[in-house]
Formats: sequence, structure tokens, C-alpha cells
Amino acid sequence: MSKVVIVGAGGVGGVVAHKCAQLPDVFHEIVLASRTESKCKAIAAQLDRPIRTATIDADDVPAMVIFLNEEKPDLLINVALPYQDLHLMDACLEAGVHYMDTANYEPPDEAKFEYHWQWAYQDKFKKAGLMALLGCGFDPGVTGIFTAHAKKHHFDTIEYLDIIDCNAGDHGQPFATNFNPEINIREVSAKGRYWENGEWQETDPLSVRHEFDFPEGIGKMPMYLMYHEELESLTTHLPEIKRARFWMTFSDNYLKHLEVLENVGMTRIDPVQFNGQEIVPLQFLKALLPDPSSLGPLTKGKTCIGCLIRGVKDGEQKQYYIYNISDHEACYAEVQSQAISYTTGVPAMIGAKMMLEGHWMKPGVWNVEQLDPDPFMADLNKFGLPWTETTPETVSLD
Ligand code: NDP
Repeated sequence: MSKVVIVGAGGVGGVVAHKCAQLPDVFHEIVLASRTESKCKAIAAQLDRPIRTATIDADDVPAMVIFLNEEKPDLLINVALPYQDLHLMDACLEAGVHYMDTANYEPPDEAKFEYHWQWAYQDKFKKAGLMALLGCGFDPGVTGIFTAHAKKHHFDTIEYLDIIDCNAGDHGQPFATNFNPEINIREVSAKGRYWENGEWQETDPLSVRHEFDFPEGIGKMPMYLMYHEELESLTTHLPEIKRARFWMTFSDNYLKHLEVLENVGMTRIDPVQFNGQEIVPLQFLKALLPDPSSLGPLTKGKTCIGCLIRGVKDGEQKQYYIYNISDHEACYAEVQSQAISYTTGVPAMIGAKMMLEGHWMKPGVWNVEQLDPDPFMADLNKFGLPWTETTPETVSLD
């Protein structure tokens, strides 16, 4: 009998609740807890079977420990915000609960996407006999599992890795972000960074652009080099990689709005005085922008996220591309969320399933690429994120 507590009832939390509820044999009991319980109740009302809901502030560690001791779940699925990761890991350690998340810890006052804070918990989790699974969404998450699958089945050595995240969807709004606006804008407006020959190379935000011809009718779209957290874990766990980069597509319209917002100071994350009170401009902007979950019924089109890999197999150079295509409207029809939340929430459910079924359960703090990709890859095909692999001869991003 497995019981999970899902923390966070935003776009991703909704999808995780839907997908876990679809598998009563794995997730016997589900509690959906967040700061605003009405959001949990709204999600619970969409499901075919009853789940419990609760109000909880994940940053209040003592209250969180009491809550976990009362509920006694096997696993906590953290789909709140990256700021809560360490508090929830502390609470899990104290209450003896396994932990997983979909994004690495970020200090609220600095846009720093680094794993060292969470990797530092390795010994504590090992000693407690508990597992913490880090970054099990799509990117990070499936992109690491795609890379592990490529290494296991297609390459002796991976030399060049390009992770490519394309959202060809359109929500019809002048400006909106597809997931939490604060997290999204912090990520996009940060400096670009990629790994080359054992060192990080830094680029100005969104200054490196490439056009890529996406499969299955999406066609050519511009994409931009960004830093993304899985670059750190993948180059650590696969040190043979000579170069690792991350690319994301943005429309000209999105970039135009972002530039103006940055120029007028609306994306700042430091507090400013306004009418005798301190406000953080980016948090104020978040309050003005459409709630990403409201975009679900409006968004049409597809996403295509995957890995383009070059390396050596049996002494020969080889190129390999693996990707998933998701359709925003099909995702909405199934779980009332657009594809960005869907492609994050489905891998989170599968990661939880891998742990609870024992395929991945081992004490310590792990990134997904350190674990066996095979059962996860099989479940991606079963639970809504089918993948395609090809060996293109000519695609090059050099
Ligand atoms: P949302 O902003 O839609 O939802 C976040 C939820 O967390 C809200 O319900 C919010 O509650 C709750 N929350 C925030 N702070 C606390 C707290 N202190 N205690 C309890 N609950 C809290 O975000 P998303 O659903 O879009 O994203 C969820 C996570 O998924 C984020 O960490 C994001 O970075 C990650 N993500 C990962 C991706 C991947 O591919 N790996 C892709 C997209 C997202 P309230 O409503 O009260 O504010």
C-alpha cells in the first residue's frame, strides 16, 4: 500500500494529481497539500476518485514535520517552487519520508540554479535509509533519462549533447509564461552558459541564436542558448561529454515584451520601496500576468523536447536525435492542463512510480541519469509521453 503527499497545487501539481489518481494500484492514497487549499480542492474535484487535500506552508519545517508524522506517506512529491526544496528535504529527513522534485533549489534572492545545496544532503539521506530523487520533470528529467538511454543503448562515448526545448504552441495572449512567471523569467533573463572542454562558457542572455527544423510538421523555429540545470548534473555524471548546451525556442513577440520589461526594471528580483512598502518587481509582475493554469483551454499547437547527441559507437562517429512531441489540446482534454505542465507532471508521476515499485529505490540523493533508464522509458510510452529516436546524418548546430 503506497501513500503519497503531493506538495504544490499549481499547473504541475494538477497534472501529477491526475496521473497518480489514474493508477490506484500504485498510488493507493493521495494527499494534495499546498498553501492555498482551495486550489487543491479545485483539482480534487476534477478527479475520478477521491483524494484528500490539506493546507500547508512548506517553508514552515516544524509544521511540515508534524503534518508528515500525522499522514505517514511513503513519498513526498515536491511540485511547489524551487525555493521550498531544502525545507521539504529537511522535513522528509526528520519524518522519515522519501522525497522527489522537478527543479533544483534556488535561493529566493539570487537567480542561481545549482545542485550543490541539494547534493550536500547525500550522506544525510543515505544514513537515514531514504531516497531523494532530484529533477524528475521533463527538463530536467526526461532529458537526463534520454541521455542515459542513449549512453546505454546507442553510444560507447557521448561527446556532444544539445538539449532542445521547443514550444510551438500559441495561447493567443499578448504576453504570458507557460509556467510560474517568476521562475520562468528568472531563468530566461539569466546569462547563458554551456559546458565545453571541462569549463563553463558564459554568454549574454539570449545572445546566441540558431534555427532548427523541428519534426512532425512543426518546421523551422529560432531557438536561443540558455543555461539549464541539467547541464550541471549531466556533465558531472557523464564526464566524457565534451560540450553540453541547452536551447529553447521563443517567439519574437515574447522576446519583445521581455526586453521592455527588463529595460523598465520589472524583472528585478531585489526589493524596492513603493508607497512606503517593499515590493519585489518580478513578484508584482507575476500578480499582473495571466495565471499559467488559465492558459490551458486557450493553448493550441505542439511541444517538441529532445536531445541531439553526437559521439562514438563501435569506433564510428554517430549522430542521434530523440524527442517527444506533445499536443497542448490533447493534454488539456486528458488532464485540464496545457503541455508544459503535462510534460513536467507525467515524468514526476513516473519517477514516483519508479521509486514506489522499487525499480529506482536506493538511499541517497540521485539525479535521474544515475538510474536505470529502461523501466522509465517504457512507462513514458505507456503514460502519455511517447518518444521517437532517429539517426539523422546531416543535422548540425555548429
Ligand atoms: P505554480 O506557480 O503554478 O504552482 C506552484 C504551487 O506551489 C502553488 O500551488 C503554490 O501555492 C505552491 N506553493 C508555493 N509556495 C509554497 C509553500 N511555501 N508551501 C506550500 N505550497 C507552496 O508552478 P508550476 O506548477 O508551474 O511549477 C511547479 C514546479 O515545477 C516548480 O518548481 C517549477 O520550477 C517546476 N517545473 C519543472 C519543469 C521541468 O520540466 N523539470 C518544467 C516546469 C516547471 P499558492 O497557489 O498558494 O501560491
